[in-house]
Amino acid sequence: MNKIEHIGIAVSDLEASVSLFEKLLNTPCYKKERVDTEGVETAFFRTGESKIELVADTRKAGTMGKFIAKRGEGIHHIAFEVDDIESEIRRLKQQGFQFVKDEPVSGADGKMVCFLHPKSTNGVLIELVADKKKG
Ligand code: ZN
Repeated sequence: MNKIEHIGIAVSDLEASVSLFEKLLNTPCYKKERVDTEGVETAFFRTGESKIELVADTRKAGTMGKFIAKRGEGIHHIAFEVDDIESEIRRLKQQGFQFVKDEPVSGADGKMVCFLHPKSTNGVLIELVADKKKG
């Protein structure tokens, strides 16, 4: 894995958290994006080599709402950049890691993404991200 691509933070009020993180990081949010397949809205910030992704639900009782009800707002996942997501998924499956979904899906920020199940990673939700293949 190449680097920590971003850290995902679960928030209940995206707009309020965007202004908070703009002040905190002293940089504007460069992208907001709804990911309708996941029922979430995201906001991205650049911090050097890595990014911060704020994630909030777009529907009631969604994934983030459940997470926040259980654990409060806070760090939701860590995303690692990989070159070839398919081969990385194969490698990790051979090592016995479990995935939330077996195939990569189209995620936010123009990436292909796939989540490892936190059961197999010490309770940390890990996301693999790769650039979409061109063509
Ligand atoms: Zn993410």
